[in-house]
Amino acid sequence: MRLILFGPPGSGKGTQAKLLAEKFRIPHISTGDLLREAVAGKSPLGLQAKGYLDAGMLVPDDVVIGLIREVLTTGIAKDGFIMDGFPRTIPQAQALDRLFGELHVRVDGVISLRVEHDEVIRRLTDRKVCRSCAKIFNSNQLHADDPSRCPECGGELYQRSDDTPETARKRLDVYLKETKPIKDYYRESGRFTQIDGMRDIADVYEEIVTILRKPIS
Ligand code: AMP
Repeated sequence: MRLILFGPPGSGKGTQAKLLAEKFRIPHISTGDLLREAVAGKSPLGLQAKGYLDAGMLVPDDVVIGLIREVLTTGIAKDGFIMDGFPRTIPQAQALDRLFGELHVRVDGVISLRVEHDEVIRRLTDRKVCRSCAKIFNSNQLHADDPSRCPECGGELYQRSDDTPETARKRLDVYLKETKPIKDYYRESGRFTQIDGMRDIADVYEEIVTILRKPIS
């Protein structure tokens, strides 16, 4: 299965991608996670990307396309993947199609999560990430007696530095301007399904699994 999850920041792509990757036992490829790891490790890629992440802006296309090329050609994703956060521009979508052509594979589906703008900002500024298991939680899901610990593995929770109100708004603007136009690109190719991402995590997950069970035309 080769699936692209699409949607604004905070639409639940990361949460759903983790659940789906576990269910189908295939890798979750998140360019955001890969870039944050590079920044934390102070690698040349990380040093190049840090300023863009901090500002809520997109890392240049050639850098992220190179990163995805590296991931897809190493073979770790040869049996499928759930892609989250890539592509984010039309040139990235075109480069991905070229890469799929080279690798003789096709994407099985692009699922877009629709979430209202106010809700995007509310979710981004409310969420915490676990340092150990990388799962994402909103404040309602945390244990009242120790909200600083992951409810699943007990790891330390932190707020992403780009989840502040100001950077969250910037990221939504960038999404609307640079990323949203990709919807038409995929709509034209017939591989695109938009679903309501405003619902509970479990309901969204069920709908995605139902869509994926349908035979590919
Ligand atoms: P995310 O974790 O997907 O919200 O991504 C966090 C940040 O990483 C974004 O705000 C961008 O700065 C950068 N980033 C992630 N994916 C991409 C991409 N496909 N193209 C450009 N920048 C990206």
